[in-house]
Amino acid sequence: MIGLRSVRLRLTLWYVVLLAVILACFSAGVYIFLRTLLYDNLDDTIRNRAVTFLEVLAYEDGRPTLVDQRPFDDPQAGESFVRVFDVSGTATVDNSAEAGHIAVDANAVESALQGRSSTRTLSTDDQSLRVLTVPIQQGADINGVLEIGQSQEDVSTALRSLLLVLAIAYPVTLAAASAGGAFLAGRALSPIDRLTRRARKITAEDLSARLDSNLPDDEVGRLARTLDDMIARLDEAFRRQRQFTADASHELRSPLTTIKGQVGLARSKPRDEAAYLEVLQIVEDEADQMSRIVDSLLTLARADAGHIVIVPESVDLGELINSVSEQMRSAAERKQITLTVDQGPSVVIDGDDDLLIRLVLNLMGNAIKFTPDGGAVALGWGMEDSEATLWVRDTGVGIAPEYLDHIFDRFYRVDSARTQSEEGVGLGLSICQWIAEAHGGSISVSSEVGRGSTFTVRLPMTQLASR
Ligand code: ADP
Repeated sequence: MIGLRSVRLRLTLWYVVLLAVILACFSAGVYIFLRTLLYDNLDDTIRNRAVTFLEVLAYEDGRPTLVDQRPFDDPQAGESFVRVFDVSGTATVDNSAEAGHIAVDANAVESALQGRSSTRTLSTDDQSLRVLTVPIQQGADINGVLEIGQSQEDVSTALRSLLLVLAIAYPVTLAAASAGGAFLAGRALSPIDRLTRRARKITAEDLSARLDSNLPDDEVGRLARTLDDMIARLDEAFRRQRQFTADASHELRSPLTTIKGQVGLARSKPRDEAAYLEVLQIVEDEADQMSRIVDSLLTLARADAGHIVIVPESVDLGELINSVSEQMRSAAERKQITLTVDQGPSVVIDGDDDLLIRLVLNLMGNAIKFTPDGGAVALGWGMEDSEATLWVRDTGVGIAPEYLDHIFDRFYRVDSARTQSEEGVGLGLSICQWIAEAHGGSISVSSEVGRGSTFTVRLPMTQLASR
């Protein structure tokens, strides 16, 4: 059932209205053109008759007359009638009575006597006539007037037939074209209906289905592929969200399980104070871990929601890196790790001091965490292609190439890191990446297993001021 809100119906209606107007213009054009042509022809014929009569005119007592009757037509049969007037306007020849009563137009005769030809149309009871009135000239003298009249019946009949043909052809053509238009519109739009039905079946719960990749590369095919791309991105986003929720629950459950286990164990029988203190220590460590996870989750959630406003201020990279490395010095010393800072040029960027400190702290924390005792961590800064760069390099365990693409994903930890350190949750680098990108920059890593890793952050110098 085609409703008014159907594109098919509207397309067909538009098409029919347009076609009706074009056909009407075309028919009117044909009619007017043919009418003009036929009347011009009639006038030509009358003029030719006039020339023939003028050639056979004779003069009696100086008055023009026709002695030879041969060129006469039969006015009764719809052919031409002829009248000849002398200079006084009196008719010397007139066979018009045979065509019915045709009054003499004194004005036309008068103006012909003054040298002006004229053409007029007049109607008798049963027909309409075209009449030509011309002066009869001999040299410079006007000796009389010749008038030729011809019935227009043939022209009228031809025009009436044409009108009839047009009147029949117009609605028939319009009806046929409308049916064709509706059929074509239906054919062109049916793939869209099919797409709509398929799209309805794709819901947020099941984004695995796709519309149609087999459609040709036309407008509908491109629409389907664009929608498919969009569904694929939604699918991926939903999948990541589900994964994120699952990972978050999992990460929060582990410390809770430990806490519950430890408390249960402590309460199972009386213990000495040292044993209770040990349990409390474990509970505190796990609570710290949980609070780190919740902090990180909160940061990322607020970042995703756009709730973290970056307050741009001038940040001296050198100062920032030196102060962060001082904060981390004791952590490095505990593992006998040599901490060095390559002093670079003075680089001042527009950025958020707190977030940039957090970024460097995270990178350094990882470098120390994943570097065995006695190793080395170096950090520095510089300028490259009008971008500020900062790097953190370590001689730690390194990251295998197959993991490099994933380490910035949320909750991603290289398996060995899980066993090696229970502290991490895999959110630190996600936060680093967000901070770098929020400043209009990027973060990258190069690493070799067993030899160490280098994390490099690039930050445009004036990105926040120009935003
Ligand atoms: P985590 O809290 O586990 O440190 P991150 O997001 O900071 O989480 O890092 C993700 C993973 O990337 C880590 O678990 C570790 O496997 C790897 N990684 C990060 N930094 C380094 C590094 N400096 N050396 C080796 N591996 C690293």
